[in-house]
Amino acid sequence: GKLKEKQKDQASYEIGLEGAEQGKVVTRFPPEPSGYLHIGHAKAAMLNQYFARHYNGKMIVRFDDTNPSKEKSEYEETILEDLKMLGIEGDVLSYSSNYFDQLADYCRQMIKTDKAYADDTTKEIMADERFQGIASKNRDLPVEESLRIFEEMFKGSEQGLPFCIRAKLSVDNPNKALRDPVIFRCNLTPHHRTGEKYKAYPTYDFACPIIDSIEGVTHALRTNEYHDRNPQYYWMVEALGLRKPFIWDFSRLNFVYTLLSKRKLNWFVNNNVVTGWDDPRFPTVRGIIRRGLTAAALREYILMQGPSKNSVLLEWDKLWSVNKRHIDPVAPRFVALNKDGLCRVNIVAGPPEAYTAEVMKHKKNPDLGFKNTAFSSCVFLEQEDAKSLEIGEEFTFMDWGNAIVESVNKDDGLVLSITAKLHLEGDFKKTKKKLTWLSPDPSALINVCLYDYDYLITKKKLEEDDAFENFISPVSEFITPAIGDANLAELKKGDIIQLERKGFFICDEPLGTNTPLRLIAIPDGRSKSTV
Ligand code: ATP
Ligand code: MG
Ligand code: MG
Repeated sequence: GKLKEKQKDQASYEIGLEGAEQGKVVTRFPPEPSGYLHIGHAKAAMLNQYFARHYNGKMIVRFDDTNPSKEKSEYEETILEDLKMLGIEGDVLSYSSNYFDQLADYCRQMIKTDKAYADDTTKEIMADERFQGIASKNRDLPVEESLRIFEEMFKGSEQGLPFCIRAKLSVDNPNKALRDPVIFRCNLTPHHRTGEKYKAYPTYDFACPIIDSIEGVTHALRTNEYHDRNPQYYWMVEALGLRKPFIWDFSRLNFVYTLLSKRKLNWFVNNNVVTGWDDPRFPTVRGIIRRGLTAAALREYILMQGPSKNSVLLEWDKLWSVNKRHIDPVAPRFVALNKDGLCRVNIVAGPPEAYTAEVMKHKKNPDLGFKNTAFSSCVFLEQEDAKSLEIGEEFTFMDWGNAIVESVNKDDGLVLSITAKLHLEGDFKKTKKKLTWLSPDPSALINVCLYDYDYLITKKKLEEDDAFENFISPVSEFITPAIGDANLAELKKGDIIQLERKGFFICDEPLGTNTPLRLIAIPDGRSKSTV
């Protein structure tokens, strides 16, 4: 248990980087502004920051904006906001688009040294030839001809448009990533930063190694599904005579019942399956934080995995139980009862008059202060608790004391009311049931709406060829109306609390004049199989 945890923690601080020197390490996090950050991106960003800090170096946040068809300024803003929420700030902010002219020059250089050629083979044929290891008909185009075509592509002329530029790397290398990858392609969509200035853009495979080298990146962290492309990355820098960064592979995060792809998450948003990128069911940074995950817990969880390179399918439980360790000591306690079937308990020899008393918000954390609890001679219990009580049974009203059931008034299985007698001298350690209760005094109550969520998809591990649209959970949001103690009215958005006997919740919307307090259940890694 604890020892193992400790060993794991230490292991994470021993992750070394090949060739790393104190003060000289430069890492980079290169998000494409084509959607919101998800938990996988958070891992990449946190690891980059971890190494930059560990070696007293710096981290570049670089927007990899080389495909105008997918990218928007809006996403750049939200990505920066999300990084900030995670406590991640780059030392340098850069854009691949700052290098478009230089990248075009490097492309010309490749063509001139006969390391790249212009090709107008259609997409389908190119894929087929690549699969079969067949050379393109254009592979031996004269250098001058390829150069001329590149300039036509750059102008976006009718003659240039059907072409792309491919690196002359290999026709039939067993590693298909090396079979003449595309390095420049046309696109007439206006770019969100450069507008219509460019009509042809570098691909990620071309831009990334070059910019890494130019910007002084010493260590390029890449998820291991790119492993086959590492030789291609090195080939690019070598072909251009540039300085070679180290590549450090790390394992891609994958979770059960979860899609981590901006394209697929976009589909959920566009088809209104979720309410937005910050939907609590989403694995986006916004979604999980809205659901009650803390940045500190996420960081601990990610560093705990250390240098492991196997892409395993992770359960969400472990992450949420790390989170629980973070929030449990600091979450104030309150009471809420499910509204449906509330049962009145009339207390014989109860307090003659209603009164309030101060109760600690967290018995083990006095720093959290006190709340006002209303006591009265009649209280509410949840139906389920009421049903469990038997005549003569002694139980405990939490934060109050013991009582003994005198009579139970049932109708058709539903408990309508109970009469109980206070027995405050009774020992609460001896009762089996410590029940949550609330005074019915309207000034002591507020309306609460409890939200709980399940996975968005029904299949544990979606395969590449599964159409994810066929595995959408029919119902994944559960709403329970409740009444809560009036102290809950003080909650602000983002506050994390515990509702006694229900679990941890995060305030999604404070109490309004005409709207209930909106609380979202935070998974604790133990309860049912929700995310
Ligand atoms: P997506 O398919 O979700 O759009 P991507 O890899 O295309 O992901 P980028 O914005 O290009 O998205 O990724 C930025 C960085 O985040 C890259 O370094 C990438 O390797 C890393 N990354 C993306 N997904 C994951 C993941 N699931 N686990 C770990 N790192 C990831
Ligand atoms: Mg990408
Ligand atoms: Mg991807």
